[in-house]
Amino acid sequence: MKPTVTYSVLAAVPASLAALQAIAADVAWINTAAARELFREIDPHLADIEGLDPIGVLNRVSQGRLDELAQDSKFIGRAETTLTELQQRSASARWFQQRNTADPLRRVAYISAEYGLAASVPQYSGGLGVLAGDHLKAAADQGIPLVAIGLFYRHGYFRQQLDRVSRQVEQFPALSPAALRMERVSGADISIEFGETKVHAALWKLNVGTIPLYLLDTGIDSNAAPDQLVADRLYGGGSDQRIRQELLLGVGGLRALRALSETPEVFHLNEGHAGFLALELIREMMVDHGLNYDEAVEAVRPRIVFTTHTPVPAGIDRFPRALIESHFAWWCRDTGRTIDQLMELGFEPDGDPDTFNLAAMSLRLAGWAGGVSQLHGEVSREMFGPLWPGVATAEVPITSVTNGVHASTWVDDGIAQIFRNAIGDDWSSAPAERWNAMATTDEIALWTARNDARSRLIAFTRARLNRAVARRRGLSTATSWANTVLDPEALTIGFARRFATYKRATLMLRDLDRLHRLLTNSECPVQFVFAGKAHPADEPGKEYLRAIAALADDPELRSRVVFLEDYDIDAGRALTQGCDVWLNTPLRPMEACGTSGMKSAYNGGLNCSVLDGWWDEWFTPERGWAIPSADWIDDSEARDTAESDWLFDLFEREIVPLFYDRDDRGIPVHWIDRVRTSLAGLSPLVTADRMVRTYTTEAYEPAARRQRLISENSYERAKSLASARQRLTHAWPGVRILSATTDGRDPIRGAGLMVTIEVQLGDLTPSDVVVELVHGSVDVAGSLHETQVQAMAMTPDPSRDRPSDPSGDPSGDPSAKGATLRYTATITNDLPGSFGFTARIVPAHPDLARWQDLGLVTWSA
Ligand SMILES: *Cc1c(COP(=O)(O)O)cnc(C)c1O
Repeated sequence: MKPTVTYSVLAAVPASLAALQAIAADVAWINTAAARELFREIDPHLADIEGLDPIGVLNRVSQGRLDELAQDSKFIGRAETTLTELQQRSASARWFQQRNTADPLRRVAYISAEYGLAASVPQYSGGLGVLAGDHLKAAADQGIPLVAIGLFYRHGYFRQQLDRVSRQVEQFPALSPAALRMERVSGADISIEFGETKVHAALWKLNVGTIPLYLLDTGIDSNAAPDQLVADRLYGGGSDQRIRQELLLGVGGLRALRALSETPEVFHLNEGHAGFLALELIREMMVDHGLNYDEAVEAVRPRIVFTTHTPVPAGIDRFPRALIESHFAWWCRDTGRTIDQLMELGFEPDGDPDTFNLAAMSLRLAGWAGGVSQLHGEVSREMFGPLWPGVATAEVPITSVTNGVHASTWVDDGIAQIFRNAIGDDWSSAPAERWNAMATTDEIALWTARNDARSRLIAFTRARLNRAVARRRGLSTATSWANTVLDPEALTIGFARRFATYKRATLMLRDLDRLHRLLTNSECPVQFVFAGKAHPADEPGKEYLRAIAALADDPELRSRVVFLEDYDIDAGRALTQGCDVWLNTPLRPMEACGTSGMKSAYNGGLNCSVLDGWWDEWFTPERGWAIPSADWIDDSEARDTAESDWLFDLFEREIVPLFYDRDDRGIPVHWIDRVRTSLAGLSPLVTADRMVRTYTTEAYEPAARRQRLISENSYERAKSLASARQRLTHAWPGVRILSATTDGRDPIRGAGLMVTIEVQLGDLTPSDVVVELVHGSVDVAGSLHETQVQAMAMTPDPSRDRPSDPSGDPSGDPSAKGATLRYTATITNDLPGSFGFTARIVPAHPDLARWQDLGLVTWSA
């Protein structure tokens, strides 16, 4: 039977416990050890066994228990002290305030389609959202002045259950704003055109420390019924729902900021979902500041920071022309642009001309763009390179900032205590040198903390499994076997991720005999905990999930293999804290970064992973294991079999023996050695503190400086840049490289090679261009590698210097149009070998931050 009306009940928090409400009203606070400890006292079962975060505990606790605590003066005192401490911490000066920069960064707006801040605020689907949540929490810890924008999904992302035959069942329970501890912002009316209708959005506010997060909500009475459901589900519906969600996020997001009187200098777009914000900014520049379109683009680009998150084509938003046409009439009307011109912004070279690619548009309009690991940066330069014709892959303007994870959200409180003792209270942002202390930390204390975390994972797993098995069998209470799965002393392997096929969760199922032997060895037992959701539309992914879940249902194996339903932040925390080994088997290089392995490493787990994403960057043999990638094998079956064999070899020969090699105290000293090395080396790298500081110094601050310059004197520089762009583009066909010659000898090592280039610039002058040598080593295939760019200097032609030359040949005069000019440079090579060079001319302008943006370059033939 379906209810006519659904409502939610929360226990009323008695007035004397107001401090609990106040703590729960800040997502940064609920992710601190102090808050977890306090809320554990309310109900240890909910906090420890169910692994709920403080909001979760408060949402589930009984009225009776709260009333009892309301009489407990000791508890009330503790709650108040904790709140005061958290408030003081929030008000104190952080890294950002302590840096002595003149005229500091004022405000950055961060825009993301999802936020994973806590399991009890289910507004995320996976890695992208959790990363956004960690970004906000770490930025708040560091005092970075952010304001964040997102959507409120009234049904969030689906909750996962498995049915009796291990198939995924998706449910979308209604969320109550009260249970999410959100505050309604009054008086903010945001409206936006969806085709013919005007849709309104209300705003909710969530506090993340000092950072406000505003979520737009169309589920309000002033909207027609279908429009109320625009952002009902995260990534729900087809393309037309998707484009509306993204209009709401980007266009509505900027209007929300304006309604709140926020004037950010910089906008950080987290993936293409947020990209439409750039279009609204352009429109704003034209309507409010009277710029023409070209000027508006130059005025907007400096302030857009864009992070791309995936090399998997399915992860990138594309819209058919018809949808752009039906949703951007207002934009074309205000900007005077045609749909064709708009489509060009989202055009993919070699793609369908009637497809609009949001990542392509965002990259074209962003002054800073980056991937999420070094390898992903490389892969993105390759993948998006065609957007910058004539630009060598290495110079495609996409860099990277490797993701990180928020320390106090993810690090187990016991492990954190060890860090505090070894490194100090500021461990989460301590520099690498100080982490060397971890290499010699007490092995007994560390092993004890690891055992405790594993035991908690097992208790958590049993509790969740119990509920799931009871539900599947239609029983009201637990069945016996679910209470005894997993061995608290056994080597525990974790694998939790989206069941996308490229992540290959089933890799180890390719050799069931070998898997059985690994799992059923009574001397050296190995056990697996799996978790993860498959996208509702991803049938092959669901099939992988079913295969794993079926394994976990096999009576012979079920005590050693568990599939944990409904992977969320609470499950992620229990898993990454409790597992000894974190397994990751993506098809290289599809995993852009991956952050769950970072969480495991931060807790003293050892990673065993394909060298993809972050692991490619920071792996060393002392920190864990690398599964080789057979990327030279084209046949995917054969490739998977080869990689699976190597994975078994690693387990059988290295991982299992190392874990069970104990000294006379029962401690696996060599294992612990590796854990200490991994913690010492990786902790200062995987932390989100490092990530947000890097974004601040490398992306936000330079963007704000550019923004201040470009906006001076009513956008004077944007105007001059736009007109220079026109002039340069018009004259560029006249730019030619006539010849490139050397002084005629192979240089011996250390001696220089002088290069001379003759060029013509047509209507342009030498100050409009930079002439450069691009040189490097030459490989066996004859291609340039490890290239360096070196500027060349204009030199007078000695043959024309002769005073006896009476002709007055104008081609020697650089100011004359059409003159032939000479540029020279000397290359010095330190190492022996085969080298080569080529030359190019690129445009120059004092306000042009990246020559690549003009799409003009001339290479020597
Ligand atoms: C950390 C986390 C992710 C992202 O992990 P990946 O390694 O990128 O797959 C996804 N979901 C949850 C619940 C997480 O905690």
